Amino acid sequence: MKVLIVDDSPQALALAKARLAPEEHELMTAESAKAGIEIARRQEPDLILLDVKMPDMSGFEACRRIKEDPELALIPVIFLTGSDDVEDKVVGLRIGAVDYVTKPFDPFELRARVAAALRTKRLQDLLNEQARLDPLTEMPNRRALHNRLEEEWERVQRHGRSLSFIIADLDHFKSVNDKHGHNIGDSVLRDVASTMRSRCRRIDLPCRYGGEEFAVIVPDETAEGAAVLAERYRGAIAELRFTAADEEFSITASFGVAEAAGADSPEALIELADNALYQAKENGRNQVVIAS
Ligand code: GH3
Ligand code: MG
Ligand code: MG
Repeated sequence: MKVLIVDDSPQALALAKARLAPEEHELMTAESAKAGIEIARRQEPDLILLDVKMPDMSGFEACRRIKEDPELALIPVIFLTGSDDVEDKVVGLRIGAVDYVTKPFDPFELRARVAAALRTKRLQDLLNEQARLDPLTEMPNRRALHNRLEEEWERVQRHGRSLSFIIADLDHFKSVNDKHGHNIGDSVLRDVASTMRSRCRRIDLPCRYGGEEFAVIVPDETAEGAAVLAERYRGAIAELRFTAADEEFSITASFGVAEAAGADSPEALIELADNALYQAKENGRNQVVIAS
């Protein structure tokens, strides 16, 4: 894991580095608070060791900025404080640090505290990942999709790029469960998921939107371009063959496609695609409809 050490004293940096077994962690250093925040943004460290007293900006102020920045807020911070600064320790913990180490460092204590913080960070990363993943298909879930859509939406506003959204719903899926059982239904969902994953472009984000609904964020495409992609999914899904109790069956899916240019918010974009999906169902299913 990556550890960033921020201290204005080159000796303190060298010492911390030497104590922190470079073979166990990837170590980075910064000699000022501002440089530290910059490096943190670029390198996404798993832990920041932050000196309290620095000339350009105090460690406390740097920590406040880190905790206020959504991209950095989850990185744990350990303060490097003078041994008798009880007040510093309390303030540091209050503004979001997970721990402190007193200078001069005891090498064993430093290593143990760093290891403890990294252990928690690893668990936090794991939980974050699980919170974004649908366990059945291992696709990103609806929460992850909403976050990504917000990010893509901002990019569209800032750079005037195009962005499209596809929503898909399996046709008569209830009858698959009714006829063949829930387990077969689950394996159909997994196969559809892997088909969609293998047919999309690298920048697209397919996800499981709900029960038997899938969605794809399609950056840099107009609705017409995204409809070509949706048509490719539709054809590939219709070609899948499943067997249950010696009976072979296939399924189809309906698609709605919409473009950000026709919407004034991410929610409105989803609603447009949803309306187009409804049209596709109304028109007889197994087809792609572009939002009008
Ligand atoms: P339509 O063509 O109108 O979409 O018909 P449908 O039967 O697909 O629609 P409906 O919404 O009535 O049924 C969706 C079904 O999807 C009902 C539910 O049991 C099933 N389903 C949802 N999530 C899962 C899942 O995780 N596993 C399985 N096996 N089935 C699921
Ligand atoms: Mg449905
Ligand atoms: Mg359905």
